[in-house]
This record gives sequence, C-alpha cells and structure tokens, in this order.
Amino acid sequence: MTQLAYHRPVSAAEAARLAAGDPEAKLLAGGQSIVPSLKLGLLAPSALIDLAGIPELRGIRLQGRTLTVGAMTTHAAVAASPEVRSSIPALARLAEGIGDRQVRNRGTAGGSLANSDPAADYPAAALALGAVLRTTRRPIPADAFFKGLFETALEPGELLTAMEFPVPDRAAYVKLPQPASRFALVGVFLAQTGGAVRVAVTGAAPCVFRVREMEEALARRFAPESLAGIGLAADGLSSDIHGSAAYRAHLIPVLARQAVAQALG
Ligand SMILES: Cc1cc2nc3c(=O)[nH]c(=O)nc-3n(C[C@H](O)[C@H](O)[C@H](O)COP(=O)(O)OP(=O)(O)OC[C@H]3O[C@@H](n4cnc5c(N)ncnc54)[C@H](O)[C@@H]3O)c2cc1C
Repeated sequence: MTQLAYHRPVSAAEAARLAAGDPEAKLLAGGQSIVPSLKLGLLAPSALIDLAGIPELRGIRLQGRTLTVGAMTTHAAVAASPEVRSSIPALARLAEGIGDRQVRNRGTAGGSLANSDPAADYPAAALALGAVLRTTRRPIPADAFFKGLFETALEPGELLTAMEFPVPDRAAYVKLPQPASRFALVGVFLAQTGGAVRVAVTGAAPCVFRVREMEEALARRFAPESLAGIGLAADGLSSDIHGSAAYRAHLIPVLARQAVAQALG
C-alpha cells in the first residue's frame, strides 16, 4: 500500500512552508478533483496538505468596486452570497450552475482556478472580469494565470489565497452544460466595464481564452447584432465524445449573443 502523509495546517504561511518543503505533496481543497485522481491512480503524492482548517482562506468581501473571494470559499457560498448576488450576479449564477449540490458544497473557487480544468466555469469568469489572483507570493493577473491544459502560473509551493474581481457595469455567463457533470461543453463569460468589454470562452479548447474580435465589436456597440459575422475556426478547438471542434466553434458565437442579450437584461 502507498504511504500518504496528511497535514492540516492552520495558516496559509504554514501550508506554503509544508508545500515548499515537499515537492511531491499536493494541496487539498474540497477534494472534488484531486480525490477522483487519487482513486484512479493518476496521482500518487507523498502527502496531502489539507487547507480546510485555514479560516483566512475563506470568505467573501465587497469593498468599493472590488469583490474578494477567498480561495477556499465553496461554490455554494458564492452562489448564496448577498455580496456576490448584488455586485456580480453573473458570478453567483455561474457558481449555482456548477455540478450538483455535493460538488457545490465541497468544491472551492480557488481549487477550480488552480486546477484549470479546460471545461471549468470559474476560469471564464476570472478571465472575463480581469480578476487578480492573490497567492502566498504575489498577485497574478488572470491574463497571465492560465497557461494551458491543467496548467497555471502557480509555482511549486505557491498557494492561491484569494481572487479579486473588479465589479463590472454588466456581465453574463451562458454555458451549454455537459448533461451528466454540468461541466461546460462551451461556456462564454462576458463583462463590460466603462468602454471596455472582455469575452472569455471555456470548454472549447485545452485552456480558457479571450476572443478579441468579439471584444472589439462589443466595445463599439454592446448589442447581440454586433457579433454578426464573427465566427471562430475549429482549428485548435477540442473534439471529444461530447462534441466536435466544429460544433464547439459553432456554439461560441451562439452563446456569446445569448450572453450579450442576458447582460442587457
Ligand atoms: C461530478 C462533478 C461535477 C462537476 N461539475 C463542474 C461544473 O459543472 N463546473 C465546474 O466548473 N466544475 C465542476 N466540477 C469541479 C468542481 O467545481 C471543483 O471545484 C473542482 O474540481 C476543484 O475541486 P476542489 O475545490 O475540491 O479542489 P481539489 O480537488 O481539492 O484540488 C484541485 C487542484 O487544485 C489544487 N489546489 C486546491 N486549492 C488550491 C489553492 N488554494 N492553491 C493552490 N492549489 C490549490 C490541488 O492541489 C489540486 O491540484 C465538478 C466536479 C465533479 C466531481
């Protein structure tokens, strides 16, 4: 039987120290991704560093035009939060649409972002809202955080501590959920702040990405019609049993138009 040590630090600094001291150790948030990987034998860490006993990593705060969500805040807490619902309702709805009740009660915003699953919902929100991801070492802008399939800018021993979401003027998230898991077959999050618009797509490629052509068209005029004629090539998009690359390419502008309409109310 494989030996697996278990640590339960009480501060982010202690967790970071433990992680830095053992490159084979893995951080444990709600276990919604890592536990299945352990069960399937895809991961065999030397230790689990459980973040559940670290109060400073939880909670939601709205200060001025910045919404801060602690890394260990569950999807259920984000969905139910009056601060989130009043400042960025699209983020609350995104959290409400994740998985099932158990996943929402165990899974965390930070775990989802650190995992960078290609079909996860939060990366689209972080990228479209221009979030800043705070770690035990530095602030990382969302544009520099997502590096590829299950790959982020986090370095070994670096913990995500909180996400700072600038409150937009309007935002919306529309996804076509994979019916069994509710992961995004394709999901489009868009946000308008002042004259600027950001459009982020998840589920369609190995990593979340922005669609500049849509952003520029919507910045000129924020209306579904502005997206007419803007299409994406299927090259480089994901193809699997749930949908072909061509289907995903087709879905992106469809969902983007729906998101604009939703953002306009
Ligand atoms: C049945 C099912 C359905 C799901 N449906 C959806 C869905 O519809 N949409 C969606 O977006 N997601 C979905 N998920 C994923 C879910 O949202 C979890 O949030 C996600 O799997 C991360 O889980 P977790 O927070 O428990 O992190 P864990 O599984 O504990 O950790 C995930 C990874 O992140 C690392 N990590 C965790 N916290 C930190 C941190 N603070 N700093 C640095 N690294 C960290 C861990 O070491 C690990 O590598 C689903 C999961 C399941 C099991």
